Amino acid sequence: ARTLRIGLIPGDGIGREVIPAGRRILESLPSSLNLKFNFVDLEAGYDTFKKTGTALPDKTVETLKKECDGALFGAVSSPSTKVAGYSSPIVALRKKLDLYANVRPVKTTLGSSNGNPIDLVIVRENTEDLYVKEEKTYEGPDGKVAEAIKRISERASSRISTIAGEIALRRQKIRSAAPTSIRDQPMVTITHKSNVLSQTDGLFRETARKALAADKFSSVLVEEQIVDSMVYKLFRQPEYYDVIVAPNLYGDILSDGAAALVGSLGLVPSANVGDNFAIGEPCHGSAPDIEGQNIANPIATLRSVALMLEFLGEEAAAAKIYAAVDGNLDAAKFLSPDMGGKATTTEVLDDVLKRL
Ligand code: NAD
Ligand code: MN
Repeated sequence: ARTLRIGLIPGDGIGREVIPAGRRILESLPSSLNLKFNFVDLEAGYDTFKKTGTALPDKTVETLKKECDGALFGAVSSPSTKVAGYSSPIVALRKKLDLYANVRPVKTTLGSSNGNPIDLVIVRENTEDLYVKEEKTYEGPDGKVAEAIKRISERASSRISTIAGEIALRRQKIRSAAPTSIRDQPMVTITHKSNVLSQTDGLFRETARKALAADKFSSVLVEEQIVDSMVYKLFRQPEYYDVIVAPNLYGDILSDGAAALVGSLGLVPSANVGDNFAIGEPCHGSAPDIEGQNIANPIATLRSVALMLEFLGEEAAAAKIYAAVDGNLDAAKFLSPDMGGKATTTEVLDDVLKRL
C-alpha cells in the first residue's frame, strides 16, 4: 500500500466546513486502491494572521516541504481594506513551493446550450508574465506614465505546455473509463496574442508548439487561438475545448470566465501544481454570508481532492471521486442551496460517499 501524507489547511470561513469533507472522501476510498493517508492539520489565513501576526506561519511551509506529498487548501478571507503586514498565503505558498501551474477544470454533467456537456481545463502559467510585478511610474512630458514588465521565458513556457500535454493525455485515460464522453482525441489549445506581441507571446507560442511536438504527445491534437477570439469561442462553444494553456494574465481571466459557465462557484476545483507537489483548492472564497450553517457546497473541494490525486499519480482514485460527484449531480436529489436544492453540506457529502 502507498501512504500519502496530506497537509490540511482549512483557512477561514467555509474552508473549515469543506476541508473536513475533503478529508472524509480520502478516508472513504475503496481499500482495493491500496492507498493510505496521513493527515497533518496546518494553519493559514486571516484568523491566523490576527492571532499570530502572519497569514502563513513558517511551520506550515516547513511541514508541507518536509512532511507532505500534497495538500488541501480551503479558502482565506482578505481584509476589505489594506492591513499592514497581511498578504495572501496562497500566493506565497505558490512561490515557496514553486507551484508553477494553476489548473482549473470546468465541467458540467448536463448538456450546455448546444446539447453537449462542458468538460475543459484551463492550465495557467503561474510564475511570470505581467505578474512579476515590475512596475514603475514616472513623470513624462504629458503627465504621469506607468509601465509594467511582461516577462515570458522559454523555461516557464515549456514546462507549462508540457504539463498541459500530460493533463490532456491523462484526461483521455480517465474519460475512457466513462463511456458517455463525446471526445475521442485529446486536444491542447495554445492561447496567446502573438499577432500583436510578437516577441513575448511569440516566444510563448513557439515554445508551446515545440514542447507539444514531443513524441509522447503524438496523439494530442494541438491548436492555437488568439486570446480575444478564445473568449468569444469559449462562451459560444465551450463544449469544443479540452485543455487550454495560457500565459499568466490570459489564464487568470479565462479561468474565472470559464468558471462562470457552470453556474455555481461551489462546483469548481483547482490545483496548484509543481514538479513534486500539488495543492488542491476550491475556487471559491471563504463565503462569510453562509459560514457556519452547514450549507456550503462541498463539491468544489471534493473535485479538488481528485485533482490533487491525479497529480500525485493516483488516477484510479481520482476517477472514482469524479464519477461519484457526477453521480450526485446527475441524480440531482441531494443538491446544496447554491444548486437550487435543500441538502446540507453533510447530506451532499454522504450521498457522494455512498456512490463511491
Ligand atoms: P466567495 O467565493 O467567498 O463567495 C461568493 C458567493 O458565492 C457568495 O454568495 C457565497 O455564499 C457563494 N459561494 C462560494 N462558495 C460557495 C460554496 N462552496 N457553496 C455555496 N455557495 C458558495 O467570494 P467573495 O464573497 O467575493 O469573498 C469572500 C471572502 O473570500 C473575501 O474575504 C475574499 O477575499 C475571499 N476570497 C478568497 C479566495 C481564496 O481563498 N482563494 C477566493 C475568492 C475570495
Ligand atoms: Mn483570478
